[in-house]
Amino acid sequence: MSGSTPTKWVYDFSEGSKDQKDLLGGKGANLAEMTNLGLPVPPGFTITTDACRFYLEHGSTPEELDAQVSEHLAALERAMGKTLGDPADPLLVSVRSGAAASMPGMMETVLNVGLNDASVEGLARQSGSDRFAWDSYRRLIQMFGKTVLGIDGELFDDALDAVKAEQGTESDLDLDADHLRDVVGRYEAIVREHTGRDFPQDPREQMDLAINAVFDSWNAERAILYRRRERIPSDAGTAVNVVAMVFGNLGMDSGTGVAFTRDPGSGEQGVYGDYLQNAQGEDVVAGIRNTVPLPDLRQIDEGAYEELLGIMSRLEAHYRDLCDIEFTVERNKLWMLQTRVGKRTAAAAFRIATQLVDEGLIDMDEAVRRVTGDQLAQLMFPRFVSGGDAQQLTQGMNASPGAAVGRAVFSAEEAVKWADRGEKVVLVRRETNPDDLAGMIAAEGVLTSRGGKTSHAAVVARGMGKTCVCGAEELQVDTKNRRFSAPGGTVVEEGDVISIDGSTGRVWLGEVPVEPSSVVRYFEGEIDPDADDADDLVRSVHRILAHADETRTLDVRTNADTPEDAARARRFGARGIGLCRTEHMFLGDRRRLVEKLILAEGDDERQAALDGLEPLQKQDFLEIFEAMDGLPVTVRLLDPPLHEFLPDLTELSVRVAVAEAEGHHDEGQLRLLAAVRRMHEENPMLGLRGVRLGLVVPGLFAMQVRAIVEAACERLAAGGDPRPEIMIPLVGAVQELEAIREEADRVITEVQEQHGVDVRPLIGTMIEVPRAALTAGEIAQSAEFFSFGTNDLTQMTWGFSRDDVESAFFHQYLDKGIFGVSPFESLDRDGVGRLVELGVEGGRAARPDLKLGVCGEHGGDPDSVHFFHEVGLDYVSCSPFRVPVARLEAGRAALGAERAGG
Ligand code: PEP
Ligand code: MG
Repeated sequence: MSGSTPTKWVYDFSEGSKDQKDLLGGKGANLAEMTNLGLPVPPGFTITTDACRFYLEHGSTPEELDAQVSEHLAALERAMGKTLGDPADPLLVSVRSGAAASMPGMMETVLNVGLNDASVEGLARQSGSDRFAWDSYRRLIQMFGKTVLGIDGELFDDALDAVKAEQGTESDLDLDADHLRDVVGRYEAIVREHTGRDFPQDPREQMDLAINAVFDSWNAERAILYRRRERIPSDAGTAVNVVAMVFGNLGMDSGTGVAFTRDPGSGEQGVYGDYLQNAQGEDVVAGIRNTVPLPDLRQIDEGAYEELLGIMSRLEAHYRDLCDIEFTVERNKLWMLQTRVGKRTAAAAFRIATQLVDEGLIDMDEAVRRVTGDQLAQLMFPRFVSGGDAQQLTQGMNASPGAAVGRAVFSAEEAVKWADRGEKVVLVRRETNPDDLAGMIAAEGVLTSRGGKTSHAAVVARGMGKTCVCGAEELQVDTKNRRFSAPGGTVVEEGDVISIDGSTGRVWLGEVPVEPSSVVRYFEGEIDPDADDADDLVRSVHRILAHADETRTLDVRTNADTPEDAARARRFGARGIGLCRTEHMFLGDRRRLVEKLILAEGDDERQAALDGLEPLQKQDFLEIFEAMDGLPVTVRLLDPPLHEFLPDLTELSVRVAVAEAEGHHDEGQLRLLAAVRRMHEENPMLGLRGVRLGLVVPGLFAMQVRAIVEAACERLAAGGDPRPEIMIPLVGAVQELEAIREEADRVITEVQEQHGVDVRPLIGTMIEVPRAALTAGEIAQSAEFFSFGTNDLTQMTWGFSRDDVESAFFHQYLDKGIFGVSPFESLDRDGVGRLVELGVEGGRAARPDLKLGVCGEHGGDPDSVHFFHEVGLDYVSCSPFRVPVARLEAGRAALGAERAGG
């Protein structure tokens, strides 16, 4: 539009702040923040994510970008007193990706932009090192060739290896300036051969092409895969940071490193990180050479070390959280290249949150926001027990905790292949790189022989919550021949089972037994969080959950249909049962009685079958009411198609046919076969089930209601406090509910009169058929509560058979991005959620005191819990092991925390 101010596509570091992540990306926003704190950040500027989105959409950069980049480059040149690519004394820049959400190593970076055949000589003079200049130039051509020009990176590796072989060495450090000049010549030839043009000599052209390549890398395959897994929106785009180069590879007085303000593995306070002398930034993350622990920097360069420690504590106080930092020392001068609130393991997240409370940096509300239900779920996994007969092979670094057992595989492709076949695998590599991502996802755990706690494998595994042991240097990993050997000569071949412990770094041949986690033992009541010897992880979990419980407005119940599950869920914090399914109670020995019920000819036979079932049902409920004494227990009347309790049609047909052929005529079997035929359905999930059964099989629901109320009367007489609620499944019309309700009321009154007590259970319904949600106002006239059955509601809203689609074709739907996560796992807010909202509105309008809950699997899913909080349900109900997760997420939702955590 004419007259409007042109869009600002480029920001100087001094113009941004940490709160502008969406626009400047995480790296750009934090570089700006550090610049404004007065920390030593090399000057630079950030091209916005808006520019990236424009580029991806239009296939070209916005018109004004070129001029804005020129303006900011000129400012950068003034600040540095040098000109980009000046043959006499070149300014060099790095061009770095940086999206709003951290995507470690997934996108591209090009270093040393500005070098060419002329300026390499200037750099040599200025740095006083020919070797350094030529090494920088060959790195530029290599990175640029691969990233920007799309040349296969192995061609460069092979050329470098060839020069090394000619010199009889395996280390690049043995190559001198002339050898590197030779490498550059070979690299330039590769570029010419594969692109039909010379390596671009114009520094500005290099920079522009690198910027576009970073934009393009947003849509690299591995980046897409990573985003899908981490649920990062695919249209966010990346920012690009153009930063003046500082060099960690100018000699032994230079180096580069990574630091954490606390241990991201355990949460312990201290100085954590890795340092690599005479190296450029990417060398550390790539794990190519082994690093030294950060405290060793004190001996190497005390000045830089002390300055770094000072900056670390400043950053922690400023961000009020664990920060991770990348830095470079150039000839004893410290430079900050990046900081961000660091990724951490689940255990560290809980410990650090309460440490920060104790240090007065955050309050308990914030501590609850700082951890997630997924992290809590991870802490509930079992861990290895020592002993057993597995042979310990070695001990590496404990990079990402957890216990993983699986067959050793040596490439990402094999990991994916084996996992697709249903095998559990551990991916073993010398080091990983971003191309290994699919394999890391498929594997139970990752084991590498090189690299420190900040290597690619470690960072990515921690981000995914995947067990990882890295830097197990004693192992000789031979990926070509798919095996590794351990000290003492043990050889582990592809397919051999190994166990790796990400908490201790231990690696075993064979399967190591596992034990329950301390957090589960705490939930079970076996560990007292206030005892002197309770570990501080248990204490942190206890404090945070207690605060979540105080804060949340959603109640948490459980889905349980045995007394054992009910009791466990209660120990885990459930305040009642939201769904007690009664179908399993009709299996096993009782199947015979169900057969009798179905085959009954006439009322007497049917009643006899029901009379046989009733006392058994009553016993089931007695025990469950006892386990949940004083708390509500929602018993759902029988839901699945009756034929599920009968033999399979084909099997029975064959059996009867064989018997007939052998001359055995069995009247009972023939009747059974006829009934099975009669009841056979093409789409049983849409057939005779739920309330329809109750209406069609006389006496069935009445028997269940009688058993519930009898059990409640008996508990009362025994001094208990039973709180039964009766739930009718699959209702689509109020008339269905009314008919069942009438019968139920009659039975309840009858039993009460017999016992002379008053236990009137609430009667309610599931909302799991779209029609029920749409007519919720009418249904509420006859229901005292609704429980959203989001499993069926999802099935019927999408028309997806829940038993078939996930394995049949969901992976293709996920690949095509039709949804980022299965709607059976996490509630589809826009579709199924809309029906839930309609149900809530309609129901509450008709009956303001209507009790509302959810008992589909979504009741234990973190994202979905936030949705149920927002629409104002009274409770969620989930499986016992998800109860703590739901408690925490309900607290976080009440505190307005981000859904997926942050
Ligand atoms: C539901 O449909 O969400 C539900 C809880 O019932 P079920 O899974 O037993 O069909
Ligand atoms: Mg259902």
